[in-house]
Amino acid sequence: MWIGVVTPMPQLVTAGLVEGVVGRATEADLLDVELFNVRDHATDRYGSIDDRPFGGAPGMLMMAEPLAMCTDEALRKSPVANPVTVYLSPQGEKLTQGLVGELAEVEAMILISGRYEGVDERYIQEYVDREISVGDYVLSGGELPALILIDAVGRLIEGTLGNEKSAKDDSFGDNLLEGPQFTRPREWRGKTVPSVLTSGDHAEIAGWRHEQALLRTWQRRPDLLTDRRFNSAERAWLERHVNKTR
Ligand code: SAM
Repeated sequence: MWIGVVTPMPQLVTAGLVEGVVGRATEADLLDVELFNVRDHATDRYGSIDDRPFGGAPGMLMMAEPLAMCTDEALRKSPVANPVTVYLSPQGEKLTQGLVGELAEVEAMILISGRYEGVDERYIQEYVDREISVGDYVLSGGELPALILIDAVGRLIEGTLGNEKSAKDDSFGDNLLEGPQFTRPREWRGKTVPSVLTSGDHAEIAGWRHEQALLRTWQRRPDLLTDRRFNSAERAWLERHVNKTR
């Protein structure tokens, strides 16, 4: 997958690309992230990319033309003709694992990071396919949201996680939170690992994990269970558990 990032602060994005899953995916050529600096497209001799908003609101806005020229450069470099263009914005649709899965299917996308008080609306109208928010709070720039998106999408690209881990076991994989996990030592500060996990019985371990995932989801995010079609074993287990804890 190719991802172009349009930003006035490329160094902020670079820092998040070199380590971990995303770093490995980049090294293995599963992911190619290219950065495009809006400042390289300033149209005046002072290098300005922002100006005061019409109507007298406080703060500055990113001007449409430098952003447009920078996005054009990214569009020219894109390996496919029509990459999805995404403006990271607190006003966008909220990022979910479902949306991440959808974006992981595309061959190329361009992520646009705003700064200051945002960007001129006319640029959004001309260039942006989707606006995506990482949550109901306001950050000072779109670089961290872009990295969040790159990381979340990157780990779904086949081959990125290796054999040892499957993304579908993670929280939200089956619209459930993942249950508790343990590593060595078996006993730590008087607390022991649940014996089923050291039993070697893979079917029993899988069943226990699934029940723990259901329980954790029911306790912490019951909203995720609202539309779930429970199978009979799940229903029986939940009923037993709900009655026990009432
Ligand atoms: N004035 C804007 C508003 O009220 O909607 C907020 C601008 S914010 C200070 C500057 C930039 O940070 C935005 O252009 C956007 O790219 C990014 N940003 C801030 N919060 C974000 C969020 N929750 N999700 C995605 N991007 C965000």
